[in-house]
Amino acid sequence: MATMITDECINCGACEPECPNTAIYQGGVEYDGLDGAKHAALSNDFFYIVPEKCTECVGFFDHEACAAVCPVDCCVPDPNIPESEEVLMTRARQLHPEQAFPEDYPSRFKAGAAAPAASAAPAAAAAPAAPVAAAPAGGATFVQSPLDALADTVPALESWDVPLTCFRCRGEFEVPFQFIKPGTVLHCPHCAGSFVPNTILYRDVAKRVTKFYDSFTAGLDAIRSRHQAEIERFEDQLRQSLQKLKDDVKEASADAALAGAPQKNRGFFG
Ligand code: SF4
Ligand code: SF4
Repeated sequence: MATMITDECINCGACEPECPNTAIYQGGVEYDGLDGAKHAALSNDFFYIVPEKCTECVGFFDHEACAAVCPVDCCVPDPNIPESEEVLMTRARQLHPEQAFPEDYPSRFKAGAAAPAASAAPAAAAAPAAPVAAAPAGGATFVQSPLDALADTVPALESWDVPLTCFRCRGEFEVPFQFIKPGTVLHCPHCAGSFVPNTILYRDVAKRVTKFYDSFTAGLDAIRSRHQAEIERFEDQLRQSLQKLKDDVKEASADAALAGAPQKNRGFFG
């Protein structure tokens, strides 16, 4: 089967650079077809995969690279496009005629390969983490990163204001999520009429709000880990550059004819 992206996609972009076949495109962006022409986007709302370019990573990895990085497990096998390993490997060779694939090429179909892409069901919802940055300890100077600032833009789950419409006067008002519990008596600020959330309303609101927070947190975590990888790469380069600088300076100072340094005895006539 080709791999597909479901509408659970949160458009984090983590999968696109992982694809060895450039089969993944951002929603609304035209794709490059195998005929060399541009084609209309297959989705305008979410990242999408061009089936004719997807090999389920056969030839490159023993798992689907997009599924491995997707924070919400929405890269899944497309049940409408079943394809054998042979078909997928033939496609990999056609897509990369310049590449010499080994006999024992990696494939998710092979014994011992990593587990195939997740099923169409989304990842189990984890307990929502309050996306609020922790306060610095000991009054230390704290420079907030752009990612923490982004997290701050979303209020804590319990204090998120749920928009409600009064069934009596149709007036609109907002109540913190923590009060949308079955049996809690709320009062409309417009007509003062009572409003008691029932279990159905509570479950519906809780499901939507929790799903949003899970997606937001997962997206933020994905960006953070990419960020972290970049920082580590940069630190590595920095370490190497510093070592080279040290070596160069050491070499230059060893070669320099410094005043007071012992000179080679050149004999009486120099
Ligand atoms: S399964 Fe592999 S080849 Fe297919 S879209 Fe995902 S990363 Fe690309
Ligand atoms: S990694 Fe998953 S959530 Fe992110 S853009 Fe790709 S399919 Fe969408």
